[in-house]
Amino acid sequence: MYASLTTESPYTGQVLALTGGVGGAKLARGLAGVLSGAQLTIAANTADDFDYWGLRICPDLDSVMYALADLNDEERGWGLKDESWRTRIAMRRLGGDEWFQIGDQDVATHILRTQLLAKGDSLAAVTEKLCCGLGIPHTLLPMTEGRVATKVITDQGCLEFQEYFVRDKCEPEVRGVLFDGLESAQLHPKLAALLADDTLSAIIICPSNPFVSVDPILALSGCRELLKAAKAPVVAVSPIIAGRAVKGPAAKMMRELAMPATASAVAAYYGDVIDGYVLDDLDASYADEVAAMGLDTCVSQTMMSDVASKTQLAETILDFASRITKKK
Ligand code: GDP
Repeated sequence: MYASLTTESPYTGQVLALTGGVGGAKLARGLAGVLSGAQLTIAANTADDFDYWGLRICPDLDSVMYALADLNDEERGWGLKDESWRTRIAMRRLGGDEWFQIGDQDVATHILRTQLLAKGDSLAAVTEKLCCGLGIPHTLLPMTEGRVATKVITDQGCLEFQEYFVRDKCEPEVRGVLFDGLESAQLHPKLAALLADDTLSAIIICPSNPFVSVDPILALSGCRELLKAAKAPVVAVSPIIAGRAVKGPAAKMMRELAMPATASAVAAYYGDVIDGYVLDDLDASYADEVAAMGLDTCVSQTMMSDVASKTQLAETILDFASRITKKK
């Protein structure tokens, strides 16, 4: 799978990527192509997780896992390629819910996860087992073992994240976002330990939705402080290219939350948590504005449409991070 990865990676140290689903999964795949299994840890948002058909669904963990295994459907942006939908059709025939799309192969992931969780395994252990089954050498971690649930406050009331995102197709106007369960959830101990580890050479905030993918991770108690205190530079990649989200509601949400839908507004939103920011070539005109925020700035091609562009962006980010001297 990682045929291009020689045992001698030119990069030294550990790399941590914080991610949501679609955009984050693409960059995670790029990083996995240039970093060894021992070097790369990916921590994914779990605030989108929910129960459906009696099964525990972890959309972002699964998007990353499928991308790392090269089994993801690129066009849809989620789920497995060569998927079929007979279970969903049968569920419709029985009069069951089927607004959340679960494919026939994908359902196996959710069944096994639910079984193992019911047996008492941690979500990290279950994720490790699933990744091992798919031959993934890198570490994929949930942001927490706790139960955090994103609620989207909209003009149509307070919605569960998947109701807003999938059932209502992100159509309601967003007024705010809440994370239920935050008070009792803790940053995954392995993630907290890695953030404090001197061998960490870069922390990458993937091009994921700032409000519903990255914020739940940053909102966990102690996360912002650990990021600021980390020896390694924190580099974020813009999920906005030329005023638009590549996929999903990020730009729409920014406008609804009274922010300009620009790459520089995302940098300002992350504020002093980040040391460096990667903007797309199409947003080069914002580079000075981002630099004026005190951030190291890198302008690059950030559209990831195939393995080569994912790998290229990963290399650019790692080179950029290696040149940043942490100021704080
Ligand atoms: P979700 O949890 O499934 O919504 O996934 P993410 O939050 O990780 O990904 C959604 C974000 O990824 C959107 O804001 C997209 O604009 C961004 N995104 C998707 N593909 C790309 C890409 O190729 N390049 C960049 N820069 N951003 C991308």
